[in-house]
Amino acid sequence: MNTEKILLAGKIALQVRDWIKPQIKKDMLLLELAEKIEGKIVELGGVPAFPTNLGINDMTAHYTPAYNDEAKAKGLLKIDFGVCVDGWLSDTAFSVDLENSEENKKLIEVAEKALENAIEIINSKTSLGEVGKIIQQTIESKGLVPIANLTGHSIEKYELHSGKTIPNIANKNPRLFGTGIFAIEPFVTKGNGRVYEGKPSGIYSLQNTKNTRSQIAREVLEFISEEYSTLPFCSRWIVKKFGTKSLFGLRELEKNGNLHQYPQLIESSHNNVAQSEHTIFIEKDKTIVTTG
Ligand code: MN
Ligand code: MN
Repeated sequence: MNTEKILLAGKIALQVRDWIKPQIKKDMLLLELAEKIEGKIVELGGVPAFPTNLGINDMTAHYTPAYNDEAKAKGLLKIDFGVCVDGWLSDTAFSVDLENSEENKKLIEVAEKALENAIEIINSKTSLGEVGKIIQQTIESKGLVPIANLTGHSIEKYELHSGKTIPNIANKNPRLFGTGIFAIEPFVTKGNGRVYEGKPSGIYSLQNTKNTRSQIAREVLEFISEEYSTLPFCSRWIVKKFGTKSLFGLRELEKNGNLHQYPQLIESSHNNVAQSEHTIFIEKDKTIVTTG
């Protein structure tokens, strides 16, 4: 564990968050927003830990703009991004209401409250199930619903989702947090509280580097392996490096089993969803919110 780099990855994320928040306006291109966030991360000395996720309304996770995306910011927008400093990661998310909607504002407020209440009780001896219970209680006490099939996660060096999952609903998991890095991320809706898998997202992760047929696919594979290793990346980043001919290479690599592509995750009753996320670092007897 490199405490200094863990804290720096968190601090950069916090700075980016504070910098971008007042700039988010209705009708701005999501593409511009994602590039601003990712550019600022680099300017501050990190690299993006994964492609910026920008989910509108019921689009709950795994939407990142394509290289030619024309979608504009609106509705209840979730902004989820992370920072990597030499493999040490942070992961943070916040939501904004671009419609002046009381309902959206309530969803956002409750997501933030659920996160705050969860973090308050977490130390190395807290059980994972207990945190799910606090999150669920906070959300249900306001008449709303947590997304049951999305969870927080432990984080290791170069590994955004490592062994432990942090539930957003109560369960009997007696497993304790222990020490380490964790992302806590409640999602709030008034809908069914489940997501389903939609279209391919253009977000990928490397599975293996076994040989593949075309020259462009081989070049792209080598670049991915050196540049991102096991961290998620997106087609937009690959097009930036190699041009649109690389989209053919990505398709081949996916078919060949070199890449896994994540599906978009959508709330099953098509209700709006708010998300709030922080990364915490639990040392022996203290818990630090690295992104807060
Ligand atoms: Mn996240
Ligand atoms: Mn996360």
